[in-house]
Amino acid sequence: MHDLKDTYRHKGLRKQLVDGLKSKGIDDEAVLQAIGKVPRHCFLNSAFDEWAYRDVAFPIESGQTISQPLTVAIQTSLLNVKKGDKVLEIGTGSGYQASVLVELGAKVFTLERDEHLYKTTSELLNKLGYTGIRTYLRDGFDGLPRHAPYDKILVTAAAPEIPDKLLEQLTIGGCMVIPVGKGDIQNMIRITRVDEDKYDKEDFGKFRFVPFVKGIKKEKDSN
Ligand code: SAH
Repeated sequence: MHDLKDTYRHKGLRKQLVDGLKSKGIDDEAVLQAIGKVPRHCFLNSAFDEWAYRDVAFPIESGQTISQPLTVAIQTSLLNVKKGDKVLEIGTGSGYQASVLVELGAKVFTLERDEHLYKTTSELLNKLGYTGIRTYLRDGFDGLPRHAPYDKILVTAAAPEIPDKLLEQLTIGGCMVIPVGKGDIQNMIRITRVDEDKYDKEDFGKFRFVPFVKGIKKEKDSN
């Protein structure tokens, strides 16, 4: 199902993807290098191998999507990850974004609400050797208080509003990147915790994500 071989052809396609991201304005060298390292084709069904290095979002299991590489690059650049940062990701999905974060030297905690995706992605990340990523079956609205605070929080599903519980789990000086909006289109917001109860907000324009849904979806449930 997932092809774990990384061939010269894949490496060549990946280099082209990185060059394409540069030409679209991504200039964070560390982010470009991390994207250059992660074998994106391994995160898609092997039948869609050809699609892995095009700059498009793509369907994965459970009706979800792997984010477009440009979106991953923008969100990751906005997060400004430093080596050793503790990063909480909401919406594990395919595991691709989490892998890019770990390649940047982050300690990654990632939450997924869909049990089937949680299981298949945890297994895949292990097979790929991304053992530094800790995966959890959780409703991301609550964050992961047990390991808080986090230097960075990255939300990869469209949130109707900014969850207070996530803001509380940021370190002072830490930031959260989150697409916020009630309709089909969201605004990419970066919130920096400047003090115990003071937050600065910046807006980076329009994006489109799959919805942030409350509650856990068990394998036997139909929605
Ligand atoms: N970061 C992913 C893309 C995520 S798509 C990647 O790199 O592939 C968004 C994911 O968020 C989906 O897998 C969806 O199931 C998950 N999600 C939606 N609402 C959630 C919630 N409340 N808690 C945790 N995960 C959630």
